[in-house]
Amino acid sequence: LFAGEVDFLKGVVAMSGLPPADRLEVCFAGRSNVGKSTLINALTGRKRLARASNTPGRTQEINYFTLGGSRYMVDLPGYGYAEAPVAVVEKWQRLLKSYLSGRQTLRRAFVLVDSRHGIKKVDEEIMSLLDSSAVTFQVVLTKADKIKEKDREKMLAQVREKLSKHPAAYPELISTSSEKGDGITTLRAVIAGLA
Ligand code: GDP
Repeated sequence: LFAGEVDFLKGVVAMSGLPPADRLEVCFAGRSNVGKSTLINALTGRKRLARASNTPGRTQEINYFTLGGSRYMVDLPGYGYAEAPVAVVEKWQRLLKSYLSGRQTLRRAFVLVDSRHGIKKVDEEIMSLLDSSAVTFQVVLTKADKIKEKDREKMLAQVREKLSKHPAAYPELISTSSEKGDGITTLRAVIAGLA
């Protein structure tokens, strides 16, 4: 769907660096190691595309990718690592807040959650920020191949229960495995279908 038309555009460190808001965009957020880069690569059919955003120095940037001519895909840095200096974290949080509350063309945030671990405190924090920014977010469960069938329903129930407390949460979950390819077509279709 997006193959051949996907490219890294730029890393943004300040609101002034955002590309013109001339098309709708979606963003991806999640704890470090949740499988975000792997998912973006699977989604776009471009191996190592999202690696740019994982290289040191890029981690505090809002990374823009073009999806054909009609959408931007935005990779937000993984959170949950406390290694960065406080000043850097605070600067990043200010940028994140400005971005989430000020970007008119941001249609949906996909919050990635590891199928085995469920929603953690840092996920709750970003979800609350999305609530207050009035950005609809949808949970994408990652690494579905790593959870046993019998544990699956319990995890889904836990995630749904937590989401019920977030007004900006889109109720439908998308379960994915970048390894097996599960859910990738669904996620692609959701992005393509946003208007
Ligand atoms: P990021 O920090 O969120 O960008 O995470 P990565 O995409 O780098 O993935 C973290 C680790 O999880 C890597 O070792 C990946 O190979 C692994 N991983 C990512 N997606 C999947 C998946 O769908 N299934 C399995 N089994 N492993 C995955």
